[in-house]
Amino acid sequence: MSESATSGARGMTVESAFAGMRSVSPVVFKAGCPDCRRRFELTAGSLRLAIGATSRTTFYSFTCPECGASVRKPAGERIVELLTGGGVRTLRLHSTL
Ligand SMILES: [Zn+2]
Repeated sequence: MSESATSGARGMTVESAFAGMRSVSPVVFKAGCPDCRRRFELTAGSLRLAIGATSRTTFYSFTCPECGASVRKPAGERIVELLTGGGVRTLRLHSTL
């Protein structure tokens, strides 16, 4: 019975660590604006991700909170993974092709 007690304690530790991380700091993404050259942090709700048929048509977009410019940047595989994992709204474009 000592076996189940050990795994139970370990599971609780991991779970509480993740729960604490989530509640204390929401996911933010660092981005830069090519127009005004400011750098800032955006929450998942401020970003949009569009996934096209190829990596060339896959990009993410946001509105610059400093100057209001619409910024669109190519998104590589790693960025797509990061954004979708962070809860960014994703639009799939390749079904329209
Ligand atoms: Zn800007």
